[in-house]
Amino acid sequence: MAGRANHKFVLGALVACAAAMACPSTTLIAPARAESPGTTAAGLFPVVSDARLAGDDKQTRFVLDLDGKLQHRVFTLADPYRVVVDIPQVNFRLPAGAGTTGRGLVKAFRYGLVMPGGSRIVLELNGPAKIENAYVLEAANGQPPRLVIELAAVDRTTFVQSLDADSRPELRPAVGDLDAVASVATTPRAVAAVAPLDARPVVVLDPGHGGIDNGTQAASGEAEKTLVLDFALALRERIEKAGKYRVVMTRTDDTFIPLAERVRIARAQSAALFVSIHADALPRGEGDAQGATIYTLSDRASDAEAERLAESENKADAIGGLNLTEEPTDVADILIDLAQRETKSFSNRFARLLMSELKSAARMHKHPLKSAGFKVLKAPDVPSVLLELGYVSNKSDLQQLVSENWRSRTVGSVAQAVDAFFAKRVVSVGAPN
Ligand code: ZN
Repeated sequence: MAGRANHKFVLGALVACAAAMACPSTTLIAPARAESPGTTAAGLFPVVSDARLAGDDKQTRFVLDLDGKLQHRVFTLADPYRVVVDIPQVNFRLPAGAGTTGRGLVKAFRYGLVMPGGSRIVLELNGPAKIENAYVLEAANGQPPRLVIELAAVDRTTFVQSLDADSRPELRPAVGDLDAVASVATTPRAVAAVAPLDARPVVVLDPGHGGIDNGTQAASGEAEKTLVLDFALALRERIEKAGKYRVVMTRTDDTFIPLAERVRIARAQSAALFVSIHADALPRGEGDAQGATIYTLSDRASDAEAERLAESENKADAIGGLNLTEEPTDVADILIDLAQRETKSFSNRFARLLMSELKSAARMHKHPLKSAGFKVLKAPDVPSVLLELGYVSNKSDLQQLVSENWRSRTVGSVAQAVDAFFAKRVVSVGAPN
């Protein structure tokens, strides 16, 4: 069963990648080097040991130090302006803080795993730029092999024209196709045809962020993506122990998963409940906040803070180098709207149950129930909530987030809320068959 879920998950990630055309082509997904059987898994991958920026706001050069030749694909994306560098999976050993400050045309950069077999670097630009050159230099004069990307400032018109000649035109139909495939594949009939004999309700746990997208980060270095993965894995264990539900994770390791893919996993599994798990942070200088908050989907944010949060969570795809302009069309939105009304009351009910269970175990935000337009909560037929466990920007919240004791207590109360939710559902809608 687990094997089946994993298979589906990997397949899903690959489908999403193929659709986005923003992942390495098959020729780029080089298998791990076979010649070093004695090393650890990480040791099987090429190492990227340093990254530098040079130049000014007219011309900027980005250099990666490698330990051998590397295939690469480099392309630009608009709104926000980005350069995406796709390479086979590598082991990033960059100095701490690499990418947090920019130079010239580059505001900052992020790097990490974007799918099994593929790593990615996303350069955030200060303005439109074109890729003048991208090449690998062989080791010479005591320097290691280097991947060099040369950027030059251009105006927006030139930039947009360069997109058309680039990889971008492939994106539009491909993502549309994926939506069509997803909706066909998740009709009840299609699911019934391949449904496992396991008739237990499916709970999808969705640890936020992953891979190239770190999420929020504590001043002391803890990344949201790791905190929420640890939490979700512990929660899975707790829920599975009771044996009443089948748990599917959107990710079980440090991999980047696009938001739409998370939703697709929930729908493809005919999930009865979807719980996205996050840890918020207030930007420096914007006061302090603490405690857990539970979010549901709404068109209009319940308050300014909820709006800010949804906006920042919805940026995950841009951080991962996916094109933000490629979203489900308005037509799909209308259908989503209709189905969502039925789902909404279930989502709200679970949110309330979760709050009453959680407050005995964890500190709650002063307004613990909120709503906003989170993309990851948009499965029209799956009750979905997003749980912010606390603020990594708050000292005592962070202490709890990393504490085994707190995690165990809190996982217990989320599991209890899941139980209460299904108990009530059975009463109100009749026993599922
Ligand atoms: Zn998050």
